Amino acid sequence: MARATLLLLLCFLLTITAVTYVYSWGFWGHKRINRVAVFTLPPQMLSLFKANIEYVTDHSVDPDKRRYSNAEEAPRHYIDLDRYGSYPFDSLPRRWDDAVARYGEDSLKKHGIVVWHVPLMLYRLTEAFRSKDKGRILHYAADIGHYIADAHVPLHCTHNYNGQLTNQTGIHGFWESRVPELFGDNYDFFVGKAEYIEHPAEYMWNVVLKSSSEVDSVLLFERELTEQFGSDRKYAFEQRGDATIRTYSKDFSAAYQEKLNDMQERKMRAAIVAVGSFWYTAWVNAGKPDLGELKDGPVSEEEQLELEAMDKAWRDGKIYGREHSD
Ligand SMILES: [Zn+2]
Repeated sequence: MARATLLLLLCFLLTITAVTYVYSWGFWGHKRINRVAVFTLPPQMLSLFKANIEYVTDHSVDPDKRRYSNAEEAPRHYIDLDRYGSYPFDSLPRRWDDAVARYGEDSLKKHGIVVWHVPLMLYRLTEAFRSKDKGRILHYAADIGHYIADAHVPLHCTHNYNGQLTNQTGIHGFWESRVPELFGDNYDFFVGKAEYIEHPAEYMWNVVLKSSSEVDSVLLFERELTEQFGSDRKYAFEQRGDATIRTYSKDFSAAYQEKLNDMQERKMRAAIVAVGSFWYTAWVNAGKPDLGELKDGPVSEEEQLELEAMDKAWRDGKIYGREHSD
């Protein structure tokens, strides 16, 4: 009797410590994408970005942290394209003003605005280059890298973002955190050079449309493998510090990656090129300023307070908007 109770208690404890991943591309993925993007840059930019590579790496996850302190933040990370009919979603105007005129700003924000937020960030980064303001250049470079990377994730482009509508809850973190964290060290991140982007808005539309076209296989293959593996082999228990957590097994994760033909690796590579290319494009559009002579002003008191508030809210763990939209 005591033994049965103990077993029950153990099962209960294992279940409540089951992990759900909350961060897009995981913190690991975002950091890696911004970091590797530095090496796509031309020599005139490379010295600044290499000297500050830890900054653009560490701050690649600020936008996710900001979701805990700023209610406006969440929609900037995704766009539920399938809310607008079927591919290629022609009913949704590509220009922000036209889209607002048709759907209204509140409704657009509800379904996500990443595709419009990246060009806005590009504008801010360009202005930062133009005013040779080192702090702002690095701040917006780190930020825009995050949003571009998010737009490359198929599950950031559907309202079934965590498989919650198809009995596949957890797939968000599985696709973008668990798989890359298990296998990412073997990914090939030699992606070549950043290229000038002639039409940034159109570029971003192509990114989200491609992501959206990949949603079907992301969901379908998980479902097929779940049938094949059964839940005893689908999940495994792992030790994390003092806790035992239930997570997707390594075998299941490897089979998923293979079935997806290394989609996570392909998407990370595409995100890296895109991030480097947006940085490069901002610098070119600003008139290719000499980055060897930048204003190195201190962070303003206001900005410092905002950063501290963001970190505090993130640590406290109260999130605005949906859990898996980051
Ligand atoms: Zn995000």
